Amino acid sequence: MSILNLLQAVRSAKKAESLSPQQIHDLQQKRFKKLLRHVLQKSRFYKKYYKEHGITERDVDKVLPEDLPVIDKQIMMENYDDLVCDPALKKSSLEQFINESPDAGTKYKNVYRVINTSGSSGTIGLFVYGPRDWVIARALSLRIAGIPIHLLKREKLAFIGATDGHYAVITGVCGAPRILFKVLSLSISSPLEKICRDMDRFQPDALVGYASGVSLLAHEQLSGNINIAPKKIWCGGDPLNPAIRTNIKKAFDVNPINLYGASETMSFSAECKRHHRLHFFDDWFSVQVVDKDLKPVMTGQAGRVILTNLYNYTQPLIRYQMNDEIVLSDEPCQCGWPFQIIEKIAGRHEEFLWFTKTDGSKEFIHPIVLVEFFVPGLEKYQFFQTGTDRLLMKAVINGEKDSIVPVMHNRMSEILSQKSLEDTVQFDIELVDEIQNDPKTGKFRLIIPFAKQ
Ligand SMILES: [Zn+2]
Repeated sequence: MSILNLLQAVRSAKKAESLSPQQIHDLQQKRFKKLLRHVLQKSRFYKKYYKEHGITERDVDKVLPEDLPVIDKQIMMENYDDLVCDPALKKSSLEQFINESPDAGTKYKNVYRVINTSGSSGTIGLFVYGPRDWVIARALSLRIAGIPIHLLKREKLAFIGATDGHYAVITGVCGAPRILFKVLSLSISSPLEKICRDMDRFQPDALVGYASGVSLLAHEQLSGNINIAPKKIWCGGDPLNPAIRTNIKKAFDVNPINLYGASETMSFSAECKRHHRLHFFDDWFSVQVVDKDLKPVMTGQAGRVILTNLYNYTQPLIRYQMNDEIVLSDEPCQCGWPFQIIEKIAGRHEEFLWFTKTDGSKEFIHPIVLVEFFVPGLEKYQFFQTGTDRLLMKAVINGEKDSIVPVMHNRMSEILSQKSLEDTVQFDIELVDEIQNDPKTGKFRLIIPFAKQ
């Protein structure tokens, strides 16, 4: 796909910004019907699943998104090879690929972008984007980032987060067109001193990362350990709370733009220039907010997200239940964007795990490193910190224990040694048949710190 295709997709994404909310809704419905027709022709899973609910290709014109049954990550993963619309994609080969080629810039068969995550649900998911899908994903990122104006000088974009696997943000950053951007990716697992040195040397024009990662840099800037002057800052992945925002503004004199996306969506929503809450891009995503019985809730009330990604034709996600809880708002925004406002997001906060070394000093494992823990054959997991120097992982696996468990230990050894915690933390794995949600809240907790048990 050439840069011209991308620029055309960006132009069309920009054009949608001046449509009315009704026109966005009509465009969404048109795209939904086109996608539905596609899956009824190309996906064995959807064809069978919808037929069981009395829906076939003949019904496409009269079906509304809410008429279709819901799927979730578990259903998607159990039916993966039948769900995808491209016979070249097989779950087992994709898992092997992720394990053998952890560089997020590497494409599967040189064609497909592959993303894996457990998200906050603890269940590992694979998400594949074909070349055409990826053009739209990148166009939506550029809707947020803008095209750098100095076409003869590439914009220097620095990323801080999880870098050693096929995770959503790093894959998006690796996909930034090289003709427009020069990219530096820094691992949140590196020693802080290295992060500071590399960041100082690079002198980014723009900074993107987990809010907690950017906050760490803000702290270093205010302490005089780095001296950088990014003109644009985007934060996603974990909550950009008012204290973090104030800190970032103080350090860099830039008001950061809050982002909210997922492996299922890539760039899904962003704060507008007025910094007035997030807008989600309902020209390319259809969202319904529901209660625990899957009944729609009123605008202004919290509920689970049922998502349809309208541009992924390779691995279509239709009426897919996310783990996130959001509150939508009908309130218009002065910024002029027609896209609907997300008033609040819940269920995205994971905990840092702090460990105490033998010399009394403390070091943390960032939650993203645990959220993105990937080993082939590992299906679901949960981390329990059982002491200031002990960590237990409960895991559900599918396959041979003797081949999967040592790889899990190796992966954790890598994570611990990056923070020089290998001699501090005793790590154990307990294989279980099932991991229950928290009985008090009914929600799944991926990470349970020692202090909060
Ligand atoms: Zn706005």
